Amino acid sequence: VSSEKDAALAAASTSPDSPTIFDKIINKEIPANVVYEDEKVLAFRDINPQAPVHILIIPKIRDGLSRLAKAEERHCEILGLLLYTAKVIAKQEGLEDGFRIVINDGPKGCQSVYHIHVHLLGGRQMEWPAG
Ligand code: 5GP
Repeated sequence: VSSEKDAALAAASTSPDSPTIFDKIINKEIPANVVYEDEKVLAFRDINPQAPVHILIIPKIRDGLSRLAKAEERHCEILGLLLYTAKVIAKQEGLEDGFRIVINDGPKGCQSVYHIHVHLLGGRQMEWPAG
C-alpha cells in the first residue's frame, strides 16, 4: 500500500500542473531568504546548501515548465532570463572567480522539485565530473 502511495505521490509531483513548495515561496506562504526579485523571477537561498553560496532562481509563473524537458519555444525568453539573472546574482554575491550553474532534470537528473529552477553554486572550488 505504501508503495502505491509513493507512486501516486511521485506521479503527482511530476505533473506539470501540480503545485510545489516553490508556489508557497512565491506566494509568501512560507518564508525564504530572498536575494533577488523582479516581475518575472525570484531567487532565494537553498534550504540545504551544497556550497557556501547556493541560490535557486525560478520563474514566478511556471507556465508548464515543471522541468527543462518540458520546454517549448515560448519558454526561450524566461530560460534566458533565468541564466542572465544567475549571472547578476553571482556578481552580487562576489563570485568573481567563478561559479557553477546546474539544472537537474527528471528522476535521473535528481530533480526533486518540479518547478524549473537554476542552481547557482559558488564560494568554494567546484569539482568535475559532477556526481
Ligand atoms: P532539485 O533537486 O529539484 O534540483 O532542487 C530542489 C532544491 O530545492 C534542493 O536543493 C532543496 O534543498 C531545495 N528546497 C526544497 N525545499 C525547499 C524550501 O522549502 N526552501 C528552500 N529555500 N529550498 C528548498
